[in-house]
Amino acid sequence: MSSVAIITLLIQTLFLYTDGALPAAAVSISAPFAAGSRSLLRSINGGKSEKPDYAVELNATNFDSVLSETPATHAIVEFFAHWCPACRNYKPQYEKVAKIFNGADAAHPGIILMTRVDCALKINTNLCDKFSVGHYPTLLWGPPSKFVHGSFDPNQGKGGILSIDDGRTAERLLNWINKQLSSSYLLDDQKFENDQLLKNSSDIGQIAQAIYDIEEATSTAFDIILDHKMIKSETQLSLVKFLQLLVVHHPSRRCRKGTAEILVDFDNISVDKKETESGFGAGEPRHYDICGKGVPRGYWMFCRGSTNKTRGFSCGLWVLLHSLSVRADDGESELAFSTICDFVHNFFVCEECRQHFYSMCSSVSSPFKKSRDFALWLWSAHNKVNERLMKEEPSLGTNDPEFPKIIWPPRQLCPSCYASTTGKESNEIEWDHDKVYTFLKDYYGKELVTLYKEKELLAERRSAGLTAEDLTALTSVNALVVPLGAALAIAVASCAFGALACYWRQHQKSRKPPRKSWN
Ligand code: FAD
Repeated sequence: MSSVAIITLLIQTLFLYTDGALPAAAVSISAPFAAGSRSLLRSINGGKSEKPDYAVELNATNFDSVLSETPATHAIVEFFAHWCPACRNYKPQYEKVAKIFNGADAAHPGIILMTRVDCALKINTNLCDKFSVGHYPTLLWGPPSKFVHGSFDPNQGKGGILSIDDGRTAERLLNWINKQLSSSYLLDDQKFENDQLLKNSSDIGQIAQAIYDIEEATSTAFDIILDHKMIKSETQLSLVKFLQLLVVHHPSRRCRKGTAEILVDFDNISVDKKETESGFGAGEPRHYDICGKGVPRGYWMFCRGSTNKTRGFSCGLWVLLHSLSVRADDGESELAFSTICDFVHNFFVCEECRQHFYSMCSSVSSPFKKSRDFALWLWSAHNKVNERLMKEEPSLGTNDPEFPKIIWPPRQLCPSCYASTTGKESNEIEWDHDKVYTFLKDYYGKELVTLYKEKELLAERRSAGLTAEDLTALTSVNALVVPLGAALAIAVASCAFGALACYWRQHQKSRKPPRKSWN
């Protein structure tokens, strides 16, 4: 079925089930659309020099967007002038430090974003004035969000930005950083060496970092699908359904927007067409920025393993699936379940994983009526995988010793999830499923987007040119204008997902096998 036919069917279904009324949330989405900034988060080449620069070159047009979108918790901005000999001499020193923090191959990615601004360029005059740049080079340090629409007055010294007064050599700059962060980074640190991993399993706040991994997993999955030419006539409907689920329930607005654009353009990536015509299939694979420019970034935050072979994509995919499961409404739960099962079956390239997962999907014999049931089923399925891998991985040597598999959530993370075991002799955990569900909703719902919300507000403020007062009045549901096609796709997908869910419910009414319950 062509995507045009699919979309037409969806629109028809939509009008059948919704009296033609589009939900308000479907026609507009909030979206920080920073033009062309993401690609700058990787090391840049500039096209001319042989050795790429690791520090990210910023200017007045991308300064706010790059700093508001970075996953890094700290930023350094070097204000320099290209004609200044001292700055030219300083560059190799600054680069030595930038190399260990910036880009996919960095030893410590996602911690400090190192940037530079050329104050000799006219475009940057106001920007350099705002930060009171009186000499070159000037190095400022602070949380990236403090630089966005920020300023610096050395006499006031407030606002979260500090002047780096001892960074004249790479060693001294790194020393200064180590003092600030109580860290022990070295200039010759290699990737996965001396890394600060998110290991505290009882810290609920760490999941906020996973928003970047969900973006990473989404874009990695989509790149794999395109690179492996996995969209076939028999799989494309499954992908469309998954994209519809993402466009409505993905926790990252940028991914929702990118997914909507892909749905609009789906005809052009459909494989049958590609195989027969010159273009995408015959030539260079076309790239889609499903979660914005510069994503995938090439590194993981919450899902970072202690080696390059462990965690990463599969961890990010689990987190994405859980975050979708807690966002689906009751009426969507069965369709969300089948959509996720089909997606994993058709597009997860780990053969063993998809087979195991699909057999767990197939053992569910009656439809989910509540999103609670679906979220708990996914949690339980994940724990079954954990339980198996707890035994298998150590003997195969494929485990990450820093992140041993556990039955999740551990008691430290959710004490109330554990029902009282008094009087029980079995070692089996007795769960309080209501508490587990409440915890899942909180963890993969609210907690997951806490960090991101702040950044979205900054981006919204940037796009809308709002004042600080306006900002405090903003809520996460404030809407900004999106391209018409994308908005339409979101509208259609959002309603159509609900309509399809409705269709599924009708269809499932005729099936009444005894429910095989997991709890
Ligand atoms: P992961 O298991 O990836 O978990 C990621 C994070 O999710 C954890 O850090 C934790 O915070 C949270 N979490 C853990 N358990 C739960 C839970 N029960 N509910 C909610 N959140 C939880 N590998 C195999 O070798 N064989 C398989 O058959 C297999 N099947 C897979 C099926 C799917 C659908 C996916 C996405 C992955 C599968 N994998 C399989 C990969 C494997 O499950 C892990 O993803 C991988 O080993 C990395 O483990 P991790 O330590 O990062 O934690």
